[in-house]
Amino acid sequence: MPYTHPIADRIEPAMKHATGKVDKLRRHLLLGALVSMAQPVLAQSLVLTPQQTEGPFYPDQLPLDQDNDLTMVASRHAPAAGEITDLTGRILDARGKPLQGVVIEIWQVDNNGHYIHTADASTSNDANFQGFGRFETGQDGAYRFRTIKPVPYPGRTPHIHVKLHKGGRELLTTQMYVRGHALNERDAILRSIRDPAQRASVLVPFLPSNERSGQLAARFDIVLGLTPAT
Ligand code: FE
Repeated sequence: MPYTHPIADRIEPAMKHATGKVDKLRRHLLLGALVSMAQPVLAQSLVLTPQQTEGPFYPDQLPLDQDNDLTMVASRHAPAAGEITDLTGRILDARGKPLQGVVIEIWQVDNNGHYIHTADASTSNDANFQGFGRFETGQDGAYRFRTIKPVPYPGRTPHIHVKLHKGGRELLTTQMYVRGHALNERDAILRSIRDPAQRASVLVPFLPSNERSGQLAARFDIVLGLTPAT
């Protein structure tokens, strides 16, 4: 479903109604009134990133290499198979304040659809894919991973698992998805997010990178409902 702007939805019918009945000045006033009505709603708070299931494949044995580049495994020379993607974003509270010192972990299948979990070991596992990575935010709340665009595996649309914690306290477990992927509509876990704005917030565009030719860039901001103690 294409994203439509909530203000535009409200203004357009009102403008149509106004056309022919009032002069241009009154239409401007009407537009101004509608915008000022809508703005405080938008400024109030951001869409909270929804909670999603952890799934059974959080690594049972964490890899030795746990850095934020999942496409290169220490001691191996070849990069992971798949579409290399810079995954970036910020971790924010509901008012948009960047959150420092939050540890973000991601885990996902390799390009052949396998987790690094021992229950998913297979001869087709990509040994060059780290499968799991970690990053701790600084003052700007930003995080950065280098990974691959997720691929489907039986029963699931492509997704990346995400877990946040701070000081041993778990803050959020969620999943992010590839916006526009054909399997999204059939994925029970994605569909379990009932709120359309929250569902839209985890559908992330994977776009050609401006910085690295032939690679992708994806941006996923995460909004927490609670402000963790600093
Ligand atoms: Fe999964």
